[in-house]
Amino acid sequence: MNNNEKGKLLGAATAVTALTAGGYWIYQEMVGGKRPLPTPQNGSYALITGASSGIGAEFARQLAAAGFNLVLTARRKEKLALLATELQAEFDITTKIIVADLAKSEDVAQLEEKIAELNLAILVNNAGFGTTGGLLTSDLSQQMAMLDVHITAVMRLCRASLPGMTERGGGTIINVSSISAFFPSPGDVNYPASKAYLNVFSQALQAEVLESGIIVQALCPGFTVTEFHDTEIMTEFDREKVPSALWMTAEDVVRTSLQSLNPDRVICIPGRRYQLMVAATKSGPTSLILKIARKFRQRVR
Ligand code: NDP
Repeated sequence: MNNNEKGKLLGAATAVTALTAGGYWIYQEMVGGKRPLPTPQNGSYALITGASSGIGAEFARQLAAAGFNLVLTARRKEKLALLATELQAEFDITTKIIVADLAKSEDVAQLEEKIAELNLAILVNNAGFGTTGGLLTSDLSQQMAMLDVHITAVMRLCRASLPGMTERGGGTIINVSSISAFFPSPGDVNYPASKAYLNVFSQALQAEVLESGIIVQALCPGFTVTEFHDTEIMTEFDREKVPSALWMTAEDVVRTSLQSLNPDRVICIPGRRYQLMVAATKSGPTSLILKIARKFRQRVR
């Protein structure tokens, strides 16, 4: 193929990508079926994992403002207690805190028991963390803990929520996934893989519970300003190398999530830029897009 033909091919691929991405954008705006956040009934609760910081703490704020009582869980008790005190003072709600490490089976069991007792309207499976390094060189126990937190705990807490939600005729489950589910790349391979699991799991679960009035969402944020990139495990990550236009706030991510509950659109991607990127992977030359994503990842880590 000569350069002229290559140019034409690239032009055609770009046009198809732009058209499909544009179509996807319009579809996103027009698609029906969005459900408002349920009205909190007396005594109904939202349970949020990873509520001690970032996106989880923001879910707590926005759901407290909407009038839900809260169960806040994470490992750092002081942070949970501070947030619970702040939200109880500001809103007319009840809060409970449960200290739990979701990589530990017995701690997940404690939450399963709590869920069975509660009038649970909303479950937000948000806890998660990233690592850096290749599969061979990264710490095995850390990788296993990631799979436990991102996959096993989420599956168990969803399962524990179903009997009560079904009996009450509905409920909302939000599983916090990631945009990285669409961009598998080397370094931290289990992170995007575990998030891809959450997307497929949430889509299948939504189909399974449709008749019972339960709404399931897989929330796929892009770069969000939280403590996620400040942990010891993420020291190699350089925030400065990510273009500022790609950073979102937890407030915007959570607002988009709560305004996009829709059994017809399980996957929720906050931010136009990220929606277009994902649309491009579906319509454009996938291998080229994945190559760009991999280069980008190598640049920031
Ligand atoms: P933060 O680091 O601010 O929050 C992570 C939360 O998860 C903390 O509350 C932490 O609490 C909790 N957590 C971590 N490990 C465990 C564990 N073993 N057991 C129980 N809780 C745990 O990051 P974010 O708010 O950004 O992360 C929230 C979710 O968003 C994660 O699932 C992440 O993968 C996802 N996400 C984040 C993006 C970003 O750019 N920030 C992008 C895409 C997705 P504690 O340490 O107290 O236990």
